[in-house]
Amino acid sequence: MASPRNERIAKNENAFRQLNESIENSVQRRRTDDDLGGFVCECGDEDCEDIVRLPLATYEEIRRDSRLFFTVPGHEMPEAEDVVRRGEGYHVVRKHVDVAEITDAGDPREPS
Ligand SMILES: [Zn+2]
Repeated sequence: MASPRNERIAKNENAFRQLNESIENSVQRRRTDDDLGGFVCECGDEDCEDIVRLPLATYEEIRRDSRLFFTVPGHEMPEAEDVVRRGEGYHVVRKHVDVAEITDAGDPREPS
């Protein structure tokens, strides 16, 4: 069972992911996969407004797994997620399984 804090973190990250999906829809039309997109940091801090730049192809890879999110390096929250990849200017984190229900339900790519 997830702690209330970890649930809140997961819900914040879901909200940022939703926002990034609309950002991606607007930039991808005229770009190739190697181009960097500017996305919002998907960390659990609801006040974070940092921008993460990552290749659109990497963004797509992350989005294929409903438990993966990306953050500015150092914004990850070890009690709620593990860093699974360190890129240039971004970290990819995998949410702990205790909040999988929240991140799965909030996945914009999954038909609900
Ligand atoms: Zn952040």
